[in-house]
Amino acid sequence: MLIAANWKMNLDKYSIMSYIKQLETCNFSNDIKLCIFPPVIYINFLYELIKNTPILIGGQNCHYQPFGAFTGEVSAISLKEFDCKYVILGHSERRTYNKETNQNIKKCAESGIKAKLKPIICVGENINIRENGTAKNFIKKQIVESLPEKFDELTIAYEPIWSIGTGKIPEKAEINEMHKYIKEIVSSKTNKNINVIYGGSVNETNIKDILSAGNVDGVLVGGSSLKIKEFLAIYSSAVMYLKYIKVKD
Ligand code: PEP
Repeated sequence: MLIAANWKMNLDKYSIMSYIKQLETCNFSNDIKLCIFPPVIYINFLYELIKNTPILIGGQNCHYQPFGAFTGEVSAISLKEFDCKYVILGHSERRTYNKETNQNIKKCAESGIKAKLKPIICVGENINIRENGTAKNFIKKQIVESLPEKFDELTIAYEPIWSIGTGKIPEKAEINEMHKYIKEIVSSKTNKNINVIYGGSVNETNIKDILSAGNVDGVLVGGSSLKIKEFLAIYSSAVMYLKYIKVKD
């Protein structure tokens, strides 16, 4: 299971230090990969704080070129050099504010894979698409157009835009249905299994429901990952959930 903390453009040196001091006291589970995605400027600072812990670091985005005249951008190679393991691509905020397209996201995923990063490609419909009943078609197009040609390990984050930062989440059955559908699309195109994680208003209250929805391989947490107490509560609920599953089986 992957728990990804997307800090977006938040936190500073002092708050990161105090956050990690509290986070490193938690009982880490071997069954959970915990990855923090800080603002790019803090990657090395965070690395120094977590290097002796199981916590992983990822980039919030990367460019599709390995280097060049792309002011303000960061390459996958640079992220890898600073020990990043994952890279988030195609987050809805970047699709909206930076006009990122599926084609561009595909190229970024391929450059991430070349640099030995694990891409997390975000997909998700807005409220109009959800309400007019075309969410599945929309998600299918996003996936088919952004899928890298070759990959060993790929994660897709299903993040309905109407759920991000709003406190609203889909029904459990809807999460299961969409995650199953996403897995089917990718395996029909590539013959490969992928991980599908859920993102959108994950918090300490809804985490158990989300994880138990079916076909959920983890979560991408935005707002609730900024408050260490809340994030620790999410993490320990996930640990308890995995223990419960093991006992049940
Ligand atoms: C996100 O933006 O990726 C996200 C999941 O945000 P939030 O948890 O705040 O809805």
